[in-house]
Order: sequence, then structure tokens, then C-alpha cells
Amino acid sequence: MNYLRIALPVPFYQLFDYANNGLTIEQLQPGIRIRVPFAHREIIGILIEAIHDTDFDKDKIKPIIEALDQTPVFTPHLFSLCQWASDYYHHPLGDVLSHALPTLLRQGKAATIKHNTPEIADRQPESPLSLNPEQQLAVTTITASLSSFKPYLLQGITGSGKTEVYLHCIDAVLKQGKQALILVPEIGLTPQTLARFSKRFNVPMVVLHSRLSPPERLSAWIQVKTGQGKIIIGTRSAILTPAQQLGIIIIDESHDMSFKQQSGFLYSARDLAVRRGQMLQIPVILGSATPSLESLYNAQLKRFTPLSLTQRAGGASTPTFHIIDIRDQPLNSGISKPMIAAIDKHLKNHKQVLLFLNRRGYAPVLICNHCGYAADCEHCDAKMTLHLTPRYLHCHHCDRKRKVTTTCPKCQEANLTPIGVGTEKLEEFLEQEFPEVDIIRVDRDTTHSKKHLDATLTKIQQGHSQILIGTQMLAKGHHFPNVTLVAIIDVDSGLLSPDFRATERMSQLLVQVAGRAGREKEPGEVYLQTRNPEHPSLTTLLKDGYMAFSEKQLQERQSANFPPFSHLALFRCEAPQVKTCMEFLAKAKTYLANDHNVQVLGPIPAPMGKRKGFHRAQLLLNAKHRTQLHTVIKTGLRNIIALKKPVKLRWSLDIDPLDMY
Ligand code: ADP
Ligand code: ZN
Repeated sequence: MNYLRIALPVPFYQLFDYANNGLTIEQLQPGIRIRVPFAHREIIGILIEAIHDTDFDKDKIKPIIEALDQTPVFTPHLFSLCQWASDYYHHPLGDVLSHALPTLLRQGKAATIKHNTPEIADRQPESPLSLNPEQQLAVTTITASLSSFKPYLLQGITGSGKTEVYLHCIDAVLKQGKQALILVPEIGLTPQTLARFSKRFNVPMVVLHSRLSPPERLSAWIQVKTGQGKIIIGTRSAILTPAQQLGIIIIDESHDMSFKQQSGFLYSARDLAVRRGQMLQIPVILGSATPSLESLYNAQLKRFTPLSLTQRAGGASTPTFHIIDIRDQPLNSGISKPMIAAIDKHLKNHKQVLLFLNRRGYAPVLICNHCGYAADCEHCDAKMTLHLTPRYLHCHHCDRKRKVTTTCPKCQEANLTPIGVGTEKLEEFLEQEFPEVDIIRVDRDTTHSKKHLDATLTKIQQGHSQILIGTQMLAKGHHFPNVTLVAIIDVDSGLLSPDFRATERMSQLLVQVAGRAGREKEPGEVYLQTRNPEHPSLTTLLKDGYMAFSEKQLQERQSANFPPFSHLALFRCEAPQVKTCMEFLAKAKTYLANDHNVQVLGPIPAPMGKRKGFHRAQLLLNAKHRTQLHTVIKTGLRNIIALKKPVKLRWSLDIDPLDMY
């Protein structure tokens, strides 16, 4: 073999050929790392194949420097999955592969580590709970065919015992000597999941998430790859770890947006999980109380087998909902009188109250009452959020911070007033209203470190009477036995957003948060404030439940010809000038708009026209059939890549986009 075809972590779509320098055919296994010279530096790529001949100019071809591995760092299955993903997401293979590797391996460190024996709890595992009939049916169905590809949509209201179903299925997989992979949406949920799983199984477990240090990540990766780690619990990127003997993939809270990567390689871990299950011929469970419309539609089409849990396990009842119509009601820091009364009642019962507001900081806007100036970000089309402890203005889009001035920078009057309510302001108000009560705020500002977050969650679980204030961090998956009231401060921003997925998201979040109420003996209550008490989406959701709501939403999506009844791709572009974006996209459009089956909308400025100092614009591609969309993109991209790109212009392609901003 004279030449090596190598995928490099560079923003180019092609593979690169290098000359072999004496490696034998045995050494040349696809999936090993190779160090090569590239544009005056050395970089590390992955061997795709060894070839006899090359089409490149042989005089210019450089030899490789060295091979870094004796055995491939990719298992053949993961390798195929990455190749599939590169093709499907139209993303350079070298970058996909590099994404799948721990940092230390990307940097060329050895794929071994000293003292890498996983810890096993040394105690008698708890025995499994006896399942209720619905759980039993789910487990029997799933474990009946563990050696074939079957995606299941396990829909179970919060607290219905989905985790118990996972545990039984994992048990069956472990008995086959195989590994189980569980994806969870938030880092915050990994300790809780780990704790519950390690009570049940005396097997080595591995946790994978973005807050591991590089050595920790490498160590975890090796345990997965060698098959030592039997249960793998991780966030999104864990779907790209090589497992020796994977027997099942479980995606908990599978509707969650965090399974979609939002920068760089824009993959959906949920979709990759289904694909990986198919490649490995193993079951994949998508669990959720509020499945995405895509998943529900897949179940309707019989691509996914639906399984449902309709009762709360362990005898807990479902919470009751109360709408507080806040039109013409005086609000104090965003809270109405009836809400205060409800909070007071539950606290007097020595229970915990969870207030949900998906907006951190003190106030989302700071305006001048004299001239109307509003503190906005110079780099984004956005207002800056006022934070009080410590006091600064913060742009939540580009992360820039600024001092708060005492006078208006425009008219110099000392008349600056915060408008709107964030979690900090809620906290301040409730401290005055309930001075004796312990108040815990959980948002990104109070939980910079994972340790801190874990400590806070433990404190909440101990359960004395407290007010918990949280953003969506607190809404998902957590089990707080003593919370009996969930207070939702604002649902209107979700109801009124122009984003076609906003109502779906609002409903999912609402059901999720509500699910924190009354998880044990005590019945729970949910109070929500709205100025749109008659909004049909809201009333359907509250009266008839998420299934009825999603059925209506599906009808709307069908008539609007939006996913899941069509397939989208978003071609994004950003540059210092909006004109540069628009011109580039107009050119790109000529290569994409040539099949009447694929509608191309735009170029138009993005809903958030400026972000991080760059102007942004986009083209939206919408097609009835996925293959039509991908054919158009594949041929179009070849030409677009060849276009002369203005300096500082960046573009990206988002397949199945979730975030349209
Ligand atoms: P989910 O994952 O759907 O939110 P969990 O599996 O966490 O639900 O179950 C909720 C609660 O009910 C847990 O405390 C769990 O121990 C309990 N539970 C689950 N299944 C059973 C069962 N079959 N019998 C008794 N209790 C159960
Ligand atoms: Zn900004």
C-alpha cells in the first residue's frame, strides 16, 4: 500500500492522501490515528483506507509522520456511524471523527491510561420492584427481541416508572454480557441517574459529560471501549463513544432540545442513537412524558413501537392545575395575589414550593424613564439583562458584560429602571414576603460548578420547607419528594412566540415542571399565571392532556407543511455586513433552488439579525421528502464550497434544525 487516505480535522470536505512511510498492511487498520504534516504544522488525522494509487500530484504528496495507534481508536460500528453522520449532516468527516475523540486523543496522547480499574459499589444490590401491568408489558415487549433493531417510544407521564422499565431492560442486557448506554439531557441529572442505577447493579458504571477533565474523559472513554464499563450514562456526545458490546440504547427525556448540538457539528444525538441501534441490531428506547411531534409521528407511521405508562407508579396521584388569569391583576415582581396565597398555604403545610421562571438575572431590560433608552448589546440584536449580585449588565447571547451606570448614557438623567422579572428579582421579593423561609435559587448563575449544583440538589432532596426558584435546569427529571406546589410564573412568552416549535416546547416544559409536583404521597398542585387563559393550545393541554394537544399540533403542522410532515435544512450565514450575507446566500440559492420539490425561502435576515458582532441571514429549505432535500443539498454544496467566500464570512448548514434563530 503506497498511499494513505486520511480524514483531517480541518474545515474542508475532502479527504487527504499522504505517502506511506513503511507501515505494513497489518499496521494500516482503518480508524487508527496518523500524524501528518499539514500547512506548515503537524496535525492528527484518522486513517480511512490504504490505497495503491492516488489521483493527486505524486510529486506534491508528503509522507505521513507516524502512526499513533496499534489498534483503531474507532470500533468498526462507530466508524460507520460517523461516516453516515458526515454524509447525512453534510459535515466534513475529519471533523465528525475528531468530535468523537476525547481531547487527549485528539492531541496525540496514548489511548491507554494507568490504574484504570472502574469502581464497583461493594454491597448487595437492591432487588427490582415488582412491575405494574403496563410496565410489565413494556419490559416483556422490549426484552423479547434484544438482538434485533427495534425503536420504542416509551411514553409515560412523569413518575409513571419509566426508569424502572429501563432498569429491567438493562438487567436483561447485562445478563447477555453486553453494555447499556443511557443518554440524559442535562449534566445535572447524571449523579441522580448514577445513584439510582448503582443501587440496583453491582457493575462498573461510566459517566460521560462535558464537565469531565481531559484525563477523566479519556479514562471513561477507555472503560467504554474495552467493555469494562457496563452501564454508560452520559449527555449528548456519549452517543459517539466506541462501545465494545453495546446491547441497548436508552434516551431519557428524548424530546429534549439538548440532544441537538447547536454549534460546529450540528447532529441530533437522538437521531444518531436510532441509527446506531439499527446498525448494531439492538433495541433503542426513547422515553418521555412529552414525546416530540417527530417521535409521535414516527409511532403513527409504525416506525417506532409505542409503549405507554398511564398511571403514576407507587400510588402518587397526578397534580391538579389552576389557571390564574393575570389580566388586570396587580402583580408584585411578577407574582399575583392568588399565587402568593397558594405558596403560603403549601409552606404552612411544611412542604416545598417550586417557582419556575425561565429567565435568569434580575430584570431582562433596563430602561431610562426619561428618554426611553434601553440598555442593549452593541454586538447583538438584544437587550442586556440586569444582574444585581454582583451588579452588572450581561448579554446572554454573546456573554459580554458591562458596568451599570447610575445615569442614562444617552440623556444623563438618573432615571434608569429595571423592567420585567428574572429569577434574582423573584428571589428578592420572596425573601421579603417570606422572611422565615429558606429560599434556594437554581439557575446558571448560582451553579457554576457541578459540585455546587450537586450540593444544592442534595439539600433540596432532604426536603424541609423551602421555596425553590429555578429555570429549566430545575424542571427536568429531578425527583423532589417534598414539592407539592409548582408555580409557573409565565407561560405567555411560549404561547406568543413566532417560532413554529414554541408551543410544543412550552407544553413540554409545562408538563415537565408540573411533574415535579406531588411525586409521593401528597397530591400536588400546579398554579400558572397567564394573560391568555383561553388560548386553545393551553386549554387543550390542561383539559385533555399532552396527547390531545400534540394531535392538534400535528394537524397544524400538516396543514402548514412543516416537520414532521416535511424536512428542513437551514443554511446560515454570518458576516460583518448584512449585505455580504445576503449576496452570498443569493448566490448559494442559485445552486439549491433547482428542484421544484424543494422549496427555498430567503435569503432573509435571521430572526436575531445580529449576534456576537456578526450580521446573520439564512436560507430555509423545506421538502416533502428527505431524499429530495438531501440530493439538492449534496449537489448544491459542491458548487457552494467552490464559491469565492468573502473574508470573515462564515456559513453553516443545519439539517433538521430545531433552533431557527
Ligand atoms: P419516571 O422515570 O417515569 O419519572 P420512576 O421510574 O422514577 O418514574 O418512578 C417514580 C417513582 O415510582 C419512583 O419512586 C419509583 O421507585 C416508583 N416506582 C416505579 N415503579 C414502581 C413499581 N412498579 N412499584 C412501586 N413503585 C414504583
Ligand atoms: Zn451580545
